[in-house]
Amino acid sequence: MQTRKVFISAGHSNSPNSDMGAIGISGLKEGDLAVELRDLIIKELKLLNQYAITDSNSYVTKDTVAIINSILGPRDIAIDLHFNAGAEIIKGTEVLVPFKSSPFEKQLAKTLVDNISACLGTRNRGVKTEADSFRGRLIFMTPNCENILIEICFITNKLDVAMYLFKKDVVAKVIAKCIFDSLNKN
Ligand SMILES: [Zn+2]
Repeated sequence: MQTRKVFISAGHSNSPNSDMGAIGISGLKEGDLAVELRDLIIKELKLLNQYAITDSNSYVTKDTVAIINSILGPRDIAIDLHFNAGAEIIKGTEVLVPFKSSPFEKQLAKTLVDNISACLGTRNRGVKTEADSFRGRLIFMTPNCENILIEICFITNKLDVAMYLFKKDVVAKVIAKCIFDSLNKN
């Protein structure tokens, strides 16, 4: 059995002229956090001797999907990193899979949401499909590979942000381990 390849993208850019995503408490920008976390996860994967393909700092567009499709096969994994936003009281971690998700996607999404929320101490909002999401995230969910979209926590919730900022290095390690462990699975 061949090992799966992994592609990790920051859901938004850290460049002011691009899509920086949502704005959180204290002016935190989703794009800044997503790019930083992506790089932390890639660093952790490297420590596990696992190479990961990544994006530039631009957010996911139709071009990105074309690029992913040219690099990744059906067994490979694309992971997109986001931070959620909403009313101040809404909090927690959730992981999205495509509307018609594979058993692999469901399994990895469940492992990720359980481990991330346990690590951060955030509310476990579970695995959701695109159908449950507010904003259309259909673009990312179109590549012909296994697709996972992580909403780490709510950047509009004080406690979520505090826990994330305190534990971002640890959660990067946890996410890298979940991905790594899934690579050789059926
Ligand atoms: Zn986002």
